Amino acid sequence: MVDLAGQYQKIKPEVDQAIAEILTNTSFINGPAVRQFQSNLEKYLNVKHVIPCANGTDALQVAMMALNLQPGDEVITTSFTFIATAEVIALLQLTPVLVDVLPDTFNIDPEAIERAITPKTRAIVPVHLFGQCADMDRIMEIAHKHQLYVIEDNAQAIGADYFSKDGSTSKAGTIGHIGCTSFFPSKNLGCYGDGGAIFTNDDQLAEQMRIVVNHGMKVRYYHDVVGINSRLDSIQAAILDIKLKRLDDYAKARQYAAEYYNRAFAQCDKLKTPQTATFTTHVFHQYTLVTHCVNRQQLMDHLQSKGIASAIYYPVPLHLQKAYLDPRYQKGDFPVTEQLCKTVISLPIHTEFDDETLEYVTSSVLEFVNKD
Ligand SMILES: *Cc1c(COP(=O)(O)O)cnc(C)c1O
Repeated sequence: MVDLAGQYQKIKPEVDQAIAEILTNTSFINGPAVRQFQSNLEKYLNVKHVIPCANGTDALQVAMMALNLQPGDEVITTSFTFIATAEVIALLQLTPVLVDVLPDTFNIDPEAIERAITPKTRAIVPVHLFGQCADMDRIMEIAHKHQLYVIEDNAQAIGADYFSKDGSTSKAGTIGHIGCTSFFPSKNLGCYGDGGAIFTNDDQLAEQMRIVVNHGMKVRYYHDVVGINSRLDSIQAAILDIKLKRLDDYAKARQYAAEYYNRAFAQCDKLKTPQTATFTTHVFHQYTLVTHCVNRQQLMDHLQSKGIASAIYYPVPLHLQKAYLDPRYQKGDFPVTEQLCKTVISLPIHTEFDDETLEYVTSSVLEFVNKD
């Protein structure tokens, strides 16, 4: 689905030298490379505080811990996302409240959020799924009206721009009270191991989150709150700093591939190409088609036989996952999500395509889809 080896080859001398430097100066944890990356990411995102941490799941957990949410508090999120989003809500003994997504963008339906609000609701976690922003103007409006926190799960859309109704442009993840991201290798800004970060413009929340990621301490060995240990290591930070400089070019390469796919599939009524909302750019963490009257498994088998990867993000809606079964929810409750889980397919998308490969992928897809 990605070509991390090809991408590495192009930045190898720079990466190898940065790693070698850290091996020599042994500043593995909290070294200058971490501070430098943090500061460069703050500038890139135009956000006051970036708090690096160990992975994207921790980022979400730390955000919820810093908001001091209490067991039983309700957190509204989407039924169509990677499990991490709901996992941390459940781990903290908060109550996940799921809502359906919009059929065109696959992102959380703001009107469904408003309908799901109860006196126990404390926070909303929109996910900027597959690389484009959810409708943040509407979500922030609902949050202000009901005095709720907004935590953006930006693991898939780092670098995307959000165009607000007021004319301002913001980077994805910097609009809500807190934004969270992941630097998992296959993410748009990926390191060579695990990594994550939290963003906020709120000084107090930033201070609280810095305490939470560091065992709940501000002064060494004095623990004011129960925290966790969640750090980005220096080697990963150095790699990320090198890739951050290229993040916009990486997004352009993904967009080029997505446009190529869109053109190739435009006339095919069995494939619906991904739609981008007007208020956001799309950085195509995934390129996801909705199939119509196509045997999806056979299509995947066909692609595999031609050496082409494909994947289903995601095959099971959150409310039908075994660990998350809940008498509040039944099959049929989130019809858009349930239909998407049955019909979506994601094609390879990354930064290293040439036209020949894109042609091979698209013609292989069409060969199967058009055969009857
Ligand atoms: C990848 C991802 C996460 C978790 O990130 P990790 O670094 O793997 O913990 C959370 N939410 C979404 C939507 C993701 O895609």
